[in-house]
Amino acid sequence: EQEVAEYRKSLAIRVSGFDVPRPVKTFEDCGFAPELMRAIAKQGYEKPTTIQCQALPIVLSGRDVIGIAKTGSGKTASFVIPMIVHIMDQPELQKEEGPIGVICAPTRELAHQIFLETKKFAKAYGIRASAVYGGMSKLDQFKELKAGCEIVIATPGRLIDMLKMKALTMMRATYLVLDEADRMFDLGFEPQIRSIVGQIRPDRQTLLFSATMPHKVEKLAREILSDPVRVTVGEVG
Ligand code: ADP
Ligand code: MG
Repeated sequence: EQEVAEYRKSLAIRVSGFDVPRPVKTFEDCGFAPELMRAIAKQGYEKPTTIQCQALPIVLSGRDVIGIAKTGSGKTASFVIPMIVHIMDQPELQKEEGPIGVICAPTRELAHQIFLETKKFAKAYGIRASAVYGGMSKLDQFKELKAGCEIVIATPGRLIDMLKMKALTMMRATYLVLDEADRMFDLGFEPQIRSIVGQIRPDRQTLLFSATMPHKVEKLAREILSDPVRVTVGEVG
């Protein structure tokens, strides 16, 4: 414990919450299946980044997480890789409809980046991911969602449109990620985020990532996360 505390201090890592799982040092420590280890190696990821060392074991344990770290620190993989494990752990994957993993991001560019990162890990398992954001034909997106997927990566506005059109149901969703939560608030997406969260079962796993934690984001986090572990890397505003 002393060793973990000193290691965290040396890297400007702060972790708070009850019974926090120990950080990992390697991807092997995470106990991933061989297919996933191969997908990770294929990306050229040799070892987890600082935030990944802390967040991966916590997310994999099923806990809610607030992750705060600057851009470029590798936050995406710390929610995408455990999402693949979460989906593969579902019994009778094919029986129900609608996404299991739902990721909200502020802009189409970010949603697309997350989509590309997700595909790299989902492919090995035949898990289907759909990207849902403005600028694409609503009809095409409707059809794609109707065909079915296990993961949706979306901007909040377009996801609400698709839910209203009944292109998908959130009945099966158990893994929710709010990425770049501060930017989603800056762009005025708070009502859409609240509406989406309200349509997902309360016993879901919820992960919130942000570069900063303004009061409004803090308030939302307190309302929608259960007993979260907070991981902060570096000095953030
Ligand atoms: P953030 O969301 O924190 O801004 P990203 O998840 O976009 O950061 O990651 C930033 C870059 O680091 C990406 O190009 C990603 O492919 C790369 N990356 C992520 N994890 C690792 C890793 N473990 N080893 C090497 N590169 C990584
Ligand atoms: Mg990011």
